[in-house]
Amino acid sequence: MVAQVVVDVVHSNVAKPFSYLIPEGMEPVVGSRVTVPLGRRTVDGFVVGLADENQLDCPPEKLRPISKMLDEYPALLPAMLELAREIAGETHCPLSEALRLMLPAAMRTGRIKQKQETCVTLTCADAEAEAVKMKRAPKRAMLLRLLADGRTRSLAELSQLVKDPRESLKALEEAGLVRLSQREVFRSPYGEEDEKPSTQPPLTPGQQEALDSMLPAMERGEGAFLLHGVTGSGKTEVYLAMASRALEMGKGAIILVPEIALTPQMVRWFRSRFGPATAVLHSRLTDGQRYDEWRRIRLGDARIVVGARSAIFAPVEDLGLIVIDEEHEQTYLSDKHPRYDARRVAHSRCRREGATLVLSSATPSILSFAMARRGDYTLVEMPKRVADRPLPAVTIVDMRKELEAGNRSIFSALLIQKLRECLDSGQQAMLFLNRRGFHTFVSCRSCGYVVKCDACDVSMTLHRDANDPAADRLRCHLCGAERVPPETCPECGSKYIRFFGSGTQRVEEEMHKLFPGVPTVRMDIDTTKGRDAHARLLDDFGKGRAKVLIGTQMIAKGLDFPNVTLVGVVAADMTLNLPDYRARERTFQLLTQVAGRAGRAQTPGQVVIQTYKPEDACIQTAAQQDYRAFFEMEFSRRRTGLYPPFTLLARLLVESANEMEAQQMNERLYDTLQTYLISHPLQKKRTLMVRADAAPVKRIRGQYRYHVLLKLFDHPDASPLLSLLSELTSLSDERCKIYCEVNPATMM
Ligand code: ADP
Ligand code: ZN
Ligand code: ZN
Repeated sequence: MVAQVVVDVVHSNVAKPFSYLIPEGMEPVVGSRVTVPLGRRTVDGFVVGLADENQLDCPPEKLRPISKMLDEYPALLPAMLELAREIAGETHCPLSEALRLMLPAAMRTGRIKQKQETCVTLTCADAEAEAVKMKRAPKRAMLLRLLADGRTRSLAELSQLVKDPRESLKALEEAGLVRLSQREVFRSPYGEEDEKPSTQPPLTPGQQEALDSMLPAMERGEGAFLLHGVTGSGKTEVYLAMASRALEMGKGAIILVPEIALTPQMVRWFRSRFGPATAVLHSRLTDGQRYDEWRRIRLGDARIVVGARSAIFAPVEDLGLIVIDEEHEQTYLSDKHPRYDARRVAHSRCRREGATLVLSSATPSILSFAMARRGDYTLVEMPKRVADRPLPAVTIVDMRKELEAGNRSIFSALLIQKLRECLDSGQQAMLFLNRRGFHTFVSCRSCGYVVKCDACDVSMTLHRDANDPAADRLRCHLCGAERVPPETCPECGSKYIRFFGSGTQRVEEEMHKLFPGVPTVRMDIDTTKGRDAHARLLDDFGKGRAKVLIGTQMIAKGLDFPNVTLVGVVAADMTLNLPDYRARERTFQLLTQVAGRAGRAQTPGQVVIQTYKPEDACIQTAAQQDYRAFFEMEFSRRRTGLYPPFTLLARLLVESANEMEAQQMNERLYDTLQTYLISHPLQKKRTLMVRADAAPVKRIRGQYRYHVLLKLFDHPDASPLLSLLSELTSLSDERCKIYCEVNPATMM
């Protein structure tokens, strides 16, 4: 027999599977990980097919044998191999690269091993009687008494109770009273204490109706739903009920959340309902934890997986359900190669594995809602909050009027007053601003010079150190470069260096000035670097130690804190003014989501939105939490403006440290495309625009960036052109990298 092996090396020379002989006694199957000789090296690989020797097109004497098998069980389920093939095809990457998505990185590189521990089990009938006989050996007697209840205990556990027990245990083993053995321990990402068990509350009519429309489909192993439920409608309980039914059917489930910040809360829900049948997967776990959680899933001990984007590749066998919470979030698009979309991957897994897909959001993406209207998804709505709680009352504050009235603070008079009322009545508030740092740019009043990063074409942000003004730094949000803020202008030498724009740090400081002594927590990328930082900060707020939570989009969605009755949006225009056709969609989502954090329990919530554009329809519909109105408006704007989903935006992005080379390569790509279109009139008809330009951010980390932008009608005729685009990326070389992106998350 012969095995086809894809080697775990990303290079176009080895993109195809190679044949290897299977040595006597080895029994690899499709999906097994093996090591094989490749040239003079030995490399890892995956068995992707098995064949008879006489099906080969070369004589078997020429083949070399597989060196060894790597795991006791095939690491890849057949469905995951097919999935990898599909992703490789769709994102135009080598199969080996797509396969890497399917395993924890540390497992692939062999950096991580299973963890073993020694444990001790009693083997005699009456430990007490034996202990009594050991007057001369009190340590042994003590150990026997500890083991008397018959439970197996680890050596580590016993060492905490008895000093250096190893020798005594050996003696007991020799006397035939106990048995020492090795067992595997799973490194756990959960705290010491177990979640308090919870049971399903009586469901609301909205939840029951939603389940009535989705459960029958799940029982048949089919269905793709868009669950549109307003904030606070109790969507989590619907996921829990579906997962519970999946377990009863002997099936597993994957629940995706858009950010690591949201995993602790979701994991708590699921662990309190399903205990250790729940596993968690995300990038902040240690290598050991991720490996062990992965194996708990692969071995079927954990049937429910909660995690961030990459958990979509969890090796759940007999999958019954995938839920994508807050499906509108951009974080479901991978920002690294291969650039997969977790929603598409989910859809394809569900179809292939006979599972039900639930995309869920209070503000579905324009794309998903349009697909639901077209019939690709079944729309299920939950228009009411739990217990008929009202949606929060939203007030829009015109910040231009505040300025006219002489208020130069970043807080309006109304927001200050509401904050005071909220804090006085013992409740909690959230303040949202989608920018971190203190001031967002630094410039010279005399000559207009703006301090920019040396390596990137963006202005630098001032980050303040509350304890030490000398430690203030300017930081680049793209590459992280830092420098000391200038005291005089580097261009003209004037002293009139001024700081403009506000970030979360400034909100925090103003808050402390206005309300001295009120404890706050700030959540943004800067404060959540540590492994457990998210969970710790949220815990401070959840337990009431902090009264005000200040943060960026990280706090906008999903969080459920019953005691929050006030939400303040410090500057609603920030996202609205971004140069992106999705800026309006993002603003609407963000505002609706933050507003939804208020008034989730008995006391009704209030929201204050501060803006310089109070009349803007996007802000207005968000304030009314009127998704339909917003959708209709935005959908027709996209139709007239010829934006996705009516068209595809694609680009070839060229990056090089040398600006001339980037520019020349870009023009060359542009010319190639033009030539191609002239000779292909059918595709030219489907192409609305081809433009060669500098990218909006012309330089990042020292790399100059140019791109060729295309706008195409989304039509099968366009697909040869898209293939051409992806083929053109092979013109990349050491000095000049070319990337092909279709409807990417951002087009910086
Ligand atoms: P959503 O995700 O739709 O914004 P959540 O799932 O976070 O809403 O639920 C909002 C709040 O309502 C939570 O505090 C939750 O505990 C509570 N809740 C949900 N379902 C019920 C129910 N059937 N009975 C009582 N409380 C519920
Ligand atoms: Zn100057
Ligand atoms: Zn930079």
